[in-house]
Amino acid sequence: MTYPHLPPEIAELRERTRRFVREVVVDAEPVPGGRLDQATRDRLQGAAKEAGVFAPLVPKQYGGQGLPIEYWSPILQEAGYSPIGPAALNCMAPDEGNMHMLNLVATEEQKKLYLAPLAAGDVRSCFGMTEPHPGAGSDPAALRTTAVRADGGWIIDGHKRFTSGAVGAGFCIVMARTPAVDGSPEGATMFLVGMTNPGIRVGEAIHTVDRSIDGGHPHLYIENCFVPDDAVLGKVGLGFRYAQVRLGPARLTHCMRWLGLARRAHDIALDRASKRELFGGPIDSLGLAQHLIAESVIDIETSDAIINKTAELLHSDAKAGSAMSSVAKVHCSEAIYRVIDRAIQICGGDGVSDGLPLAQYLNEVRPFRIYDGSNETHRWAVARRASAARRTAVQAGERYLGDAVVGRDGGS
Ligand SMILES: Cc1cc2nc3c(=O)[nH]c(=O)nc-3n(C[C@H](O)[C@H](O)[C@H](O)COP(=O)(O)OP(=O)(O)OC[C@H]3O[C@@H](n4cnc5c(N)ncnc54)[C@H](O)[C@@H]3O)c2cc1C
Repeated sequence: MTYPHLPPEIAELRERTRRFVREVVVDAEPVPGGRLDQATRDRLQGAAKEAGVFAPLVPKQYGGQGLPIEYWSPILQEAGYSPIGPAALNCMAPDEGNMHMLNLVATEEQKKLYLAPLAAGDVRSCFGMTEPHPGAGSDPAALRTTAVRADGGWIIDGHKRFTSGAVGAGFCIVMARTPAVDGSPEGATMFLVGMTNPGIRVGEAIHTVDRSIDGGHPHLYIENCFVPDDAVLGKVGLGFRYAQVRLGPARLTHCMRWLGLARRAHDIALDRASKRELFGGPIDSLGLAQHLIAESVIDIETSDAIINKTAELLHSDAKAGSAMSSVAKVHCSEAIYRVIDRAIQICGGDGVSDGLPLAQYLNEVRPFRIYDGSNETHRWAVARRASAARRTAVQAGERYLGDAVVGRDGGS
């Protein structure tokens, strides 16, 4: 991947990250289908700190590299070249999205208590939004977890599931429905809940196909869970707004990391296609195989371009960037899956065996079409914004300029 216009210090960080992932992290990868163990994770994080590549998105005051959003992609793609690279560099979901949100929304005291240890890799975290039917999933308005006022704080009750990273996490950011109180609107509120709080309990595991997020995706039971007032993250009643602050960039960083993994799959396929001889020549001399290779290059480059456009928008206009992140999420999650699937095809039987990691890569990226908003939910949002943008322009008697993605007033 070439980025001709990177400032020298970013190009240098990218090169260092590239070397660290390919020379240190790749050697420590578990066998396909295995998981990164805690000791290896700790060892790799220590080595990443020494190599000056740890926590690339975290502000420098918390020990990170302090990268601005326009430069996240080249670094996160290098991290994602290994399925365990993001964990080694402390830029994996859900911690990475939680760190971003804490940095923007938390008080100084909360940053000291929650962001600092998370940024240092001393604890992991989770984010509890999704609930069993009929609670929140694609439709956040169905949120059933509640928090009610109590003396000096709040009492939270609810049941979450698919809470990535919950096993072994130090704290959870819990989304709960709250009434209108003290001038705050009725709505949802985010709470910082320590996992040692007696009111929160990790429940049954949910066995999914992916392996690269530490701490599983279990159920979480929250019963009569008291938290003090200073556990409120941001302002009471603004939880849904903060969820967008977290999710816009968080779904884009998933695109970046998984695009790195798609590049790895593509490299494996190119290597195989150049070495394996069929019908008198290498696979990469056969027209139909060249078609597969070309389609993957196109998927990789279009994903890269959409990611960069979205990152620029998130930098300059958060609302428009959040709307554009729907386009990026749908395109990248599907393009990345296609690239890995084609790599499997080019490698023949080995592609679906555990002799190569490709089938597991497919398992890693498949859930991305569901989490961070299913692709159908995003397509729905993209279509509504496009129609609304045109309708608004026509009603105002303006010439419609085709700003279909974000509309004249940004996304919603
Ligand atoms: C590996 C993994 C990790 C996850 N991690 C977390 C986490 O850390 N924290 C957390 O809170 N949640 C997490 N989730 C949950 C994830 O966010 C939800 O699965 C997702 O929001 C979909 O909700 P649901 O599963 O309840 O499906 P549902 O809401 O029941 O949706 C099912 C399907 O309905 C369709 N659909 C949805 N909207 C529309 C529409 N507008 N038009 C047409 N069809 C539509 C889509 O095909 C969708 O897949 C994770 C999920 C997975 C698989």
